[in-house]
Amino acid sequence: MHHFRYTGPNLHCESVDLAEVARLYGTPTYVYSAATMADNYTRLALGLTGLDVQLCYAMKANSNIAVLRHFANLGAAFDLVSGGELRRVLVAGADVKRSVFAGVGKTEAEIKLALENEIFSFHVESEPELARLNHVAGKLGVKAPIAIRINPDVDAHTHAKITTGKSDNKFGIPLKFAAAAYEAASKYPNLQLKGVQMHIGSQLTEVGPFVEAVEKVAPFAAELKAKYGITYFSIGGGIGIVYKDALASGAAAWWDAQPAGSRPLTPEAYGAALVPLLKPLGLKILLEPGRFMVGNAGVLLARVEHLKRGAGKNFLIVDAAMNDLVRPAMYESYHEIVPLQRDTSRRALVADVVGPICESGDCFAKDRSLQEVGEGELLAFMSAGAYGYAMASRYNTRSMAAEVLVKGSAFELINARESFEQIVAGEKIPAFLK
Ligand SMILES: *Cc1c(COP(=O)(O)O)cnc(C)c1O
Repeated sequence: MHHFRYTGPNLHCESVDLAEVARLYGTPTYVYSAATMADNYTRLALGLTGLDVQLCYAMKANSNIAVLRHFANLGAAFDLVSGGELRRVLVAGADVKRSVFAGVGKTEAEIKLALENEIFSFHVESEPELARLNHVAGKLGVKAPIAIRINPDVDAHTHAKITTGKSDNKFGIPLKFAAAAYEAASKYPNLQLKGVQMHIGSQLTEVGPFVEAVEKVAPFAAELKAKYGITYFSIGGGIGIVYKDALASGAAAWWDAQPAGSRPLTPEAYGAALVPLLKPLGLKILLEPGRFMVGNAGVLLARVEHLKRGAGKNFLIVDAAMNDLVRPAMYESYHEIVPLQRDTSRRALVADVVGPICESGDCFAKDRSLQEVGEGELLAFMSAGAYGYAMASRYNTRSMAAEVLVKGSAFELINARESFEQIVAGEKIPAFLK
């Protein structure tokens, strides 16, 4: 559920008319709903009632410092994957001491930064990484807290590029080698065995793969608790969101109308299936949700440049492009596209919705049916709060988009549109070309 809906003909985020945001800050612009993020956090936390939960928001999904502060205020810690993300947590005035550091290639400098800021734990992906952590911790005269990432070899039934828990991808250590990896870790003098971790993939819309993975890893977690006194089990992130019916899924009625067998995963169903499996372990449970926390809380606003009518094909050319929102080009993802001003008297238009970049991959939707719109009219790409701005680039020397946060009837720019001067600030012509 979320807080984007039409009030009269105009699409609102909470109590704010999105056309007003576009008028003030231009397009393309990302707009986020603080209430939706808070609801997502609260529902997930409530769904896991009965467990000792530490919710670590996977900030790679959306790392704007205002978003981080909002989640920190709600009580969240963070799952971070780089020194840069760690520094964002600090800038947001949030808590590194309850946060975890994941990733397959942490550098010595990043490890040092995390240790100096007393990171809660490192999530380790390989044996060479154990040696590196031990080495850096030794130099600083501290012990590095760790959990090893177990690859439970379950199929997450999601897109190949976001499946991470199969044995043939680069993440984690297979369960059959995990006991030996912990044994090896226990021999390092500067490591502290603190937990165990897994993460099977992203955009999972059914609970089955989560249950299968927890059932596989839980007995091992119990063994580790008995043998090494570990205190936590991180079950990763991966809870999916609704993309196809994104706007309608803002209302509880939409969820009630879905047949039980095909209802997308809810945080309540996730909790109901997992709490009974996890509670007997008596361990602290860490969660690393990214997409679920922010995905449905954001839209990307764009303006129509042209409606180009072709032979048998229409193209709606908008001022947002694959550099702003790369998910359709990269993962063939679907984003619902809706007009900011709804007019039911207009005809439907079937068109490819495309950006201005010189690549055929710069296409948001093929043969999409939507209300007919023309030059200057505004559109919203729904469910763009996760892996949207965070994956954006400057391809074609396009500025990074603006970002706006809404709370009730208040809204504020939380990231100004990048200027041309900022784009070229680090570039220079070398002396030998002058
Ligand atoms: C990306 C990632 C997450 C978050 O995944 P979502 O699908 O956005 O919830 C959590 N944990 C790890 C280790 C990740 O790499």
